[in-house]
Amino acid sequence: MTQLSRRDLLRGAAAGALIAGWDPVSRSWATAADRRRRLDRIPDLDGVLLTDTASRRLAADDYGHFVHHEPVAVLRPASVEDILRLVCFARERAIGVSTRGQAHSGYGQSQAPSGIVIDSSTLARIHRIGSDEAVVDSGVQWRTLIAAGAEQGVTPPVLTDYQGLSVGGTLSLGGLDSGPMRHGAIIDTVRELEVVTGEGDLLTCSPTRRRPLFQSVLGGLGQCGIIVRATLRMVPAPTMALLVRLRYEDVRANHADLAMLVRSGRLDAFEQLITFQDGRWVIDFQGAVYFDPPNAPDTARLLDGLHDVAAHRVVGPVPYLAWTLRFDPTVAATLDDRRVPFNLLAPEETAAAFLADEILSRSPAEIGDRVLQAAGTSSNMHMPMLRMPATDLFVATLLFRPHKTDAEAAAFLADNRTLYDRAAKRGAKRYPWDAVPSFTREDWARHFGDSWPLLVRAKRSYDPAGILGPGPGICSHRRSSAAMPPGAAW
Ligand SMILES: Cc1cc2nc3c(=O)[nH]c(=O)nc-3n(C[C@H](O)[C@H](O)[C@H](O)COP(=O)(O)OP(=O)(O)OC[C@H]3O[C@@H](n4cnc5c(N)ncnc54)[C@H](O)[C@@H]3O)c2cc1C
Repeated sequence: MTQLSRRDLLRGAAAGALIAGWDPVSRSWATAADRRRRLDRIPDLDGVLLTDTASRRLAADDYGHFVHHEPVAVLRPASVEDILRLVCFARERAIGVSTRGQAHSGYGQSQAPSGIVIDSSTLARIHRIGSDEAVVDSGVQWRTLIAAGAEQGVTPPVLTDYQGLSVGGTLSLGGLDSGPMRHGAIIDTVRELEVVTGEGDLLTCSPTRRRPLFQSVLGGLGQCGIIVRATLRMVPAPTMALLVRLRYEDVRANHADLAMLVRSGRLDAFEQLITFQDGRWVIDFQGAVYFDPPNAPDTARLLDGLHDVAAHRVVGPVPYLAWTLRFDPTVAATLDDRRVPFNLLAPEETAAAFLADEILSRSPAEIGDRVLQAAGTSSNMHMPMLRMPATDLFVATLLFRPHKTDAEAAAFLADNRTLYDRAAKRGAKRYPWDAVPSFTREDWARHFGDSWPLLVRAKRSYDPAGILGPGPGICSHRRSSAAMPPGAAW
């Protein structure tokens, strides 16, 4: 493996040659044979800078497997100082820098074309867990925090469904759970962040300190800063979860029940899986209510007023910890599947019609063998970069369309774009880890809406050279040319 380390062990894997430095003219690493030219010395690092083909290829891949932009190097930091040094080095040379958590993005969001990818998995320490907060590095995965929290009887109040995501990657998106999201999104539970800006400064920010930085980094897809540490709110962990399962065939009845469940707050979490069975789409709903024995929940009250509860089943109770990890084995077993992800957040008013008209009216061959849904309220979501539908109640819909050929994948990707355009006209937003091609700067400006000026201002202040977060194509010049003058598009 190729590593550039403190000991100047600079080895180019492809050629097996020593790397002597960065050639600012060819914008590539130069070997000892190129010493005729003036080369820039690579900063001393506690960790390693990888330039071998295998490491660069890995950083050019993600959950979607559609976009493959190779970086010139991958930093595996051993300290926050490594990130500071590398960002300063990159800024002076207008090299794009992306942070990669667990790369569960669908369309190259964590990649850096001809730039440097910072792999945050090497900075993954839990610094402290107290009775109401935890301080963690951005590379920590949620399952690690949940397990460590359980030992002290605390849990994050909002959880992702799959716990193999990194804290930093999730905070850069927003962090949605299965519903009803009465605590807001995960980013609403952040108390403080330590961030490396595109200027190479390490800054602390919070709701009361450098608020514009705080607001633009949370949900801001890595555009204004690299999150290196986060202070997250924790709450007492419940012991058990009682599960209720219901089956629906009528979309409108089901969506009316979802709305009622969000408003009543009877369940602590719920989600549903829609599959095609015996020639029709069937909705399998699962809800959970948390409790501490002996205070078992009243099942009749949970089901009161729902449509057709005759076929309901009560499962469990199961331990809360097992509930939080319920998707992990399935996701781990299917990570290498080829699927085209699409994640829509639709307002209550149009969600049922959109599902019925645009998705379930089509065959599983066209739309995929499964549709996942959750519903919630955005009334406690206050961070401006996480864009939600204008109405309080929303329905999240996820497609994971399997494909066998490149042609099939291309057709599904194009269809994602069509579905997005139609849904946006009905007031929906996308949750932008998914795969929607040709998403231009104008699309991003429309997506961020009235938060766009805040993002642009924060970008100018904290990343004036425009080097951070090239992956999503928000700052569009980085996608096409690493040699663009710093700050050109902003
Ligand atoms: C199977 C699966 C399940 C999922 N479940 C959920 C879920 O339940 N809830 C939910 O909200 N989302 C979910 N997602 C979407 C998820 O939020 C995103 O995929 C996000 O990518 C998760 O973090 P990651 O570590 O994989 O981030 P990455 O994909 O590595 O990065 C995501 C984005 O954040 C940036 N970034 C990463 N780390 C940092 C950092 N430290 N500082 C600044 N920017 C950074 C990247 O450059 C990129 O733009 C799921 C995705 C998959 C594939």
